[in-house]
Amino acid sequence: MAGLRRPSNVFLCEASDFRVNRINPLAFAMEVGLDETACIGAFLHATQIGIVDLAWNVVCGGCGSILHSANSLKAINDLHYRCGLCAADCQTMLDDSVEVTFTVSPKLRAISAHEPDTLPLWDYVRQVYWSSGSDLPADLRPVVDGAALDAIELSAGSFATRTLRMAEGFVVVFDPVTHSSTLLRVVGTLQDAQQMLTIALAEGVEERAQIEVAPGLFELTLENRTRQRAMRSCGLRATHCANSSADGCRL
Ligand SMILES: [Zn+2]
Repeated sequence: MAGLRRPSNVFLCEASDFRVNRINPLAFAMEVGLDETACIGAFLHATQIGIVDLAWNVVCGGCGSILHSANSLKAINDLHYRCGLCAADCQTMLDDSVEVTFTVSPKLRAISAHEPDTLPLWDYVRQVYWSSGSDLPADLRPVVDGAALDAIELSAGSFATRTLRMAEGFVVVFDPVTHSSTLLRVVGTLQDAQQMLTIALAEGVEERAQIEVAPGLFELTLENRTRQRAMRSCGLRATHCANSSADGCRL
Protein backbone atom coordinates (compact mmCIF):
# COMPACT_ATOMS: atom_id res chain seq x y z
CA MET A 1 0.00 0.00 0.00
CA ALA A 2 3.09 2.26 -0.01
CA GLY A 3 2.60 5.28 -2.23
CA LEU A 4 -1.15 5.28 -1.64
CA ARG A 5 -2.49 8.67 -2.71
CA ARG A 6 -6.14 8.11 -1.84
CA PRO A 7 -8.49 5.38 -0.53
CA SER A 8 -9.19 2.98 -3.37
CA ASN A 9 -12.33 3.48 -5.39
CA VAL A 10 -13.03 -0.22 -4.93
CA PHE A 11 -13.25 0.23 -1.17
CA LEU A 12 -15.29 3.42 -1.37
CA CYS A 13 -17.66 1.96 -3.94
CA GLU A 14 -18.05 -1.59 -2.64
CA ALA A 15 -17.66 -1.54 1.15
CA SER A 16 -20.85 -1.52 3.21
CA ASP A 17 -22.61 1.79 3.85
CA PHE A 18 -21.50 1.58 7.46
CA ARG A 19 -17.83 1.17 6.51
CA VAL A 20 -17.67 4.28 4.34
CA ASN A 21 -19.53 6.55 6.76
CA ARG A 22 -17.44 8.57 9.21
CA ILE A 23 -14.21 6.71 8.55
CA ASN A 24 -11.68 7.31 11.30
CA PRO A 25 -8.37 7.60 9.40
CA LEU A 26 -6.27 6.36 12.32
CA ALA A 27 -8.44 3.30 12.87
CA PHE A 28 -8.49 2.69 9.12
CA ALA A 29 -4.68 2.90 8.94
CA MET A 30 -4.35 0.35 11.72
CA GLU A 31 -6.91 -1.95 10.16
CA VAL A 32 -5.29 -2.08 6.73
CA GLY A 33 -1.69 -1.77 7.90
CA LEU A 34 -0.95 1.73 6.58
CA ASP A 35 1.27 4.40 8.01
CA GLU A 36 -0.99 6.89 9.84
CA THR A 37 0.48 9.98 8.21
CA ALA A 38 0.24 8.46 4.75
CA CYS A 39 -3.34 7.39 5.43
CA ILE A 40 -4.40 10.86 6.60
CA GLY A 41 -2.70 12.34 3.52
CA ALA A 42 -4.57 9.91 1.31
CA PHE A 43 -7.93 10.87 2.79
CA LEU A 44 -7.11 14.59 2.52
CA HIS A 45 -6.23 14.06 -1.13
CA ALA A 46 -9.49 12.19 -1.63
CA THR A 47 -11.27 15.16 -0.07
CA GLN A 48 -9.56 17.55 -2.47
CA ILE A 49 -10.67 15.58 -5.51
CA GLY A 50 -14.21 15.32 -4.16
CA ILE A 51 -14.70 11.61 -3.52
CA VAL A 52 -14.88 11.87 0.29
CA ASP A 53 -16.14 14.62 2.61
CA LEU A 54 -14.28 15.66 5.75
CA ALA A 55 -16.13 16.39 9.00
CA TRP A 56 -15.07 17.85 12.32
CA ASN A 57 -17.08 16.26 15.13
CA VAL A 58 -17.34 17.44 18.73
CA VAL A 59 -17.41 14.26 20.83
CA CYS A 60 -18.76 13.93 24.37
CA GLY A 61 -15.98 12.70 26.62
CA GLY A 62 -18.51 10.85 28.77
CA CYS A 63 -20.51 8.72 26.37
CA GLY A 64 -18.70 9.15 23.05
CA SER A 65 -21.65 10.66 21.22
CA ILE A 66 -21.30 13.38 18.61
CA LEU A 67 -22.66 16.65 19.94
CA HIS A 68 -21.97 18.76 16.87
CA SER A 69 -20.65 18.08 13.39
CA ALA A 70 -19.36 20.56 10.84
CA ASN A 71 -17.45 20.53 7.59
CA SER A 72 -15.07 23.25 8.73
CA LEU A 73 -13.31 23.97 11.97
CA LYS A 74 -14.66 27.53 11.92
CA ALA A 75 -18.17 26.15 12.32
CA ILE A 76 -17.25 24.71 15.73
CA ASN A 77 -17.62 28.03 17.45
CA ASP A 78 -19.00 27.21 20.89
CA LEU A 79 -16.69 26.65 23.82
CA HIS A 80 -19.16 24.21 25.36
CA TYR A 81 -21.56 21.67 23.90
CA ARG A 82 -24.11 20.03 26.15
CA CYS A 83 -24.70 16.27 26.28
CA GLY A 84 -28.25 15.50 27.40
CA LEU A 85 -27.48 11.84 28.04
CA CYS A 86 -24.56 12.58 30.36
CA ALA A 87 -26.15 15.83 31.63
CA ALA A 88 -22.72 17.40 31.28
CA ASP A 89 -20.94 20.12 29.33
CA CYS A 90 -18.25 19.16 26.86
CA GLN A 91 -15.47 21.69 26.52
CA THR A 92 -14.25 22.05 22.96
CA MET A 93 -10.57 21.15 22.91
CA LEU A 94 -9.03 19.89 19.70
CA ASP A 95 -6.92 17.12 21.20
CA ASP A 96 -9.56 15.53 23.39
CA SER A 97 -13.01 16.36 22.12
CA VAL A 98 -12.85 16.86 18.36
CA GLU A 99 -12.45 14.02 15.88
CA VAL A 100 -11.94 14.20 12.13
CA THR A 101 -13.77 11.70 9.98
CA PHE A 102 -14.24 11.08 6.27
CA THR A 103 -17.42 9.93 4.53
CA VAL A 104 -17.77 8.84 0.95
CA SER A 105 -19.14 11.74 -1.09
CA PRO A 106 -22.62 11.54 -2.63
CA LYS A 107 -20.87 12.51 -5.86
CA LEU A 108 -19.19 9.09 -5.86
CA ARG A 109 -21.80 6.95 -4.16
CA ALA A 110 -25.06 7.40 -2.25
CA ILE A 111 -25.24 5.82 1.20
CA SER A 112 -28.04 5.82 3.74
CA ALA A 113 -26.15 8.08 6.17
CA HIS A 114 -26.27 10.88 3.61
CA GLU A 115 -29.96 11.12 4.55
CA PRO A 116 -29.92 10.35 8.28
CA ASP A 117 -33.65 10.95 8.68
CA THR A 118 -34.24 7.83 6.60
CA LEU A 119 -32.11 5.57 8.79
CA PRO A 120 -33.88 3.05 11.04
CA LEU A 121 -33.62 3.92 14.73
CA TRP A 122 -30.65 1.82 15.80
CA ASP A 123 -28.78 2.43 12.54
CA TYR A 124 -29.21 6.15 13.20
CA VAL A 125 -27.90 5.74 16.73
CA ARG A 126 -24.85 3.77 15.57
CA GLN A 127 -24.00 5.75 12.45
CA VAL A 128 -25.01 9.30 13.40
CA TYR A 129 -25.22 9.52 17.17
CA TRP A 130 -22.06 7.66 18.21
CA SER A 131 -18.60 8.84 17.19
CA SER A 132 -16.17 6.88 15.06
CA GLY A 133 -14.08 6.06 18.14
CA SER A 134 -16.93 4.26 19.91
CA ASP A 135 -16.11 0.61 20.48
CA LEU A 136 -19.47 -0.70 19.32
CA PRO A 137 -20.53 -3.29 16.73
CA ALA A 138 -22.00 -2.19 13.42
CA ASP A 139 -25.34 -3.65 14.46
CA LEU A 140 -26.39 -2.33 17.85
CA ARG A 141 -29.52 -4.40 18.27
CA PRO A 142 -27.97 -7.36 20.14
CA VAL A 143 -26.34 -4.85 22.52
CA VAL A 144 -29.40 -2.73 23.21
CA ASP A 145 -31.72 -5.71 23.57
CA GLY A 146 -30.28 -6.24 27.03
CA ALA A 147 -30.39 -2.60 28.09
CA ALA A 148 -33.19 -0.77 26.32
CA LEU A 149 -36.68 -1.36 27.55
CA ASP A 150 -38.34 0.01 24.46
CA ALA A 151 -37.61 2.25 21.50
CA ILE A 152 -40.13 4.30 19.60
CA GLU A 153 -39.84 6.44 16.49
CA LEU A 154 -42.03 9.54 16.64
CA SER A 155 -42.69 11.69 13.61
CA ALA A 156 -43.11 15.43 14.16
CA GLY A 157 -46.26 16.13 16.16
CA SER A 158 -46.95 12.50 17.02
CA PHE A 159 -47.19 10.64 20.30
CA ALA A 160 -47.02 7.07 21.52
CA THR A 161 -48.20 5.38 24.70
CA ARG A 162 -46.67 2.34 26.31
CA THR A 163 -47.57 0.43 29.46
CA LEU A 164 -44.55 -0.34 31.60
CA ARG A 165 -43.91 -1.84 34.99
CA MET A 166 -41.08 -0.01 36.67
CA ALA A 167 -39.15 -1.35 39.63
CA GLU A 168 -36.97 0.72 41.93
CA GLY A 169 -33.98 2.19 40.14
CA PHE A 170 -33.42 4.60 37.28
CA VAL A 171 -34.98 4.79 33.83
CA VAL A 172 -33.56 7.12 31.20
CA VAL A 173 -35.84 8.37 28.42
CA PHE A 174 -33.55 9.55 25.69
CA ASP A 175 -33.79 10.97 22.16
CA PRO A 176 -30.63 10.64 20.05
CA VAL A 177 -31.85 13.15 17.43
CA THR A 178 -32.10 16.14 19.76
CA HIS A 179 -29.90 14.68 22.52
CA SER A 180 -32.73 15.32 24.98
CA SER A 181 -33.07 13.16 28.04
CA THR A 182 -35.29 12.66 31.04
CA LEU A 183 -34.18 10.72 34.09
CA LEU A 184 -36.86 8.88 36.06
CA ARG A 185 -35.91 7.96 39.61
CA VAL A 186 -38.16 5.12 40.65
CA VAL A 187 -38.30 5.00 44.43
CA GLY A 188 -40.70 4.44 47.32
CA THR A 189 -43.67 2.19 48.00
CA LEU A 190 -45.02 -0.07 45.27
CA GLN A 191 -48.27 1.41 43.93
CA ASP A 192 -51.30 -0.81 43.22
CA ALA A 193 -53.00 1.71 40.92
CA GLN A 194 -51.65 2.41 37.45
CA GLN A 195 -49.79 5.72 37.25
CA MET A 196 -49.87 8.12 34.29
CA LEU A 197 -46.83 9.96 33.03
CA THR A 198 -46.34 12.14 29.94
CA ILE A 199 -42.95 13.26 28.67
CA ALA A 200 -42.91 15.79 25.87
CA LEU A 201 -40.03 16.69 23.61
CA ALA A 202 -40.15 20.39 22.71
CA GLU A 203 -38.01 22.62 20.52
CA GLY A 204 -34.89 23.75 22.28
CA VAL A 205 -35.27 21.47 25.29
CA GLU A 206 -32.14 19.37 25.69
CA GLU A 207 -32.45 18.05 29.16
CA ARG A 208 -34.97 17.85 31.97
CA ALA A 209 -34.64 17.72 35.69
CA GLN A 210 -34.93 14.32 37.30
CA ILE A 211 -38.51 13.12 37.87
CA GLU A 212 -39.24 10.99 40.93
CA VAL A 213 -41.96 8.35 40.64
CA ALA A 214 -43.09 5.36 42.70
CA PRO A 215 -42.58 1.75 41.53
CA GLY A 216 -45.50 0.05 39.81
CA LEU A 217 -47.45 0.01 36.57
CA PHE A 218 -47.25 3.09 34.33
CA GLU A 219 -49.01 4.38 31.28
CA LEU A 220 -46.15 6.33 29.74
CA THR A 221 -46.97 8.74 26.91
CA LEU A 222 -44.14 10.19 24.83
CA GLU A 223 -44.91 13.26 22.71
CA ASN A 224 -42.83 14.81 19.98
CA ARG A 225 -43.69 18.52 19.81
CA THR A 226 -40.78 19.39 17.56
CA ARG A 227 -40.81 19.84 13.79
CA GLN A 228 -38.48 16.88 13.24
CA ARG A 229 -38.70 13.20 13.88
CA ALA A 230 -37.55 11.92 17.25
CA MET A 231 -36.61 8.49 18.47
CA ARG A 232 -37.19 8.05 22.15
CA SER A 233 -35.72 5.05 23.85
CA CYS A 234 -36.31 4.03 27.43
CA GLY A 235 -33.71 2.01 29.23
CA LEU A 236 -32.91 0.14 32.38
CA ARG A 237 -34.70 -1.66 35.15
CA ALA A 238 -38.30 -1.79 34.06
CA THR A 239 -40.57 -4.46 32.69
CA HIS A 240 -42.42 -3.85 29.46
CA CYS A 241 -46.01 -5.06 29.44
CA ALA A 242 -46.48 -6.27 25.90
CA ASN A 243 -49.65 -5.71 23.88
CA SER A 244 -50.33 -2.48 25.71
CA SER A 245 -49.61 0.43 23.42
CA ALA A 246 -51.24 3.18 21.42
CA ASP A 247 -49.80 5.64 18.93
CA GLY A 248 -51.21 8.75 17.34
CA CYS A 249 -50.61 12.17 15.89
CA ARG A 250 -51.24 15.61 17.33
CA LEU A 251 -50.56 18.12 14.58
ZN1 LIG B 1 -22.47 12.19 26.72
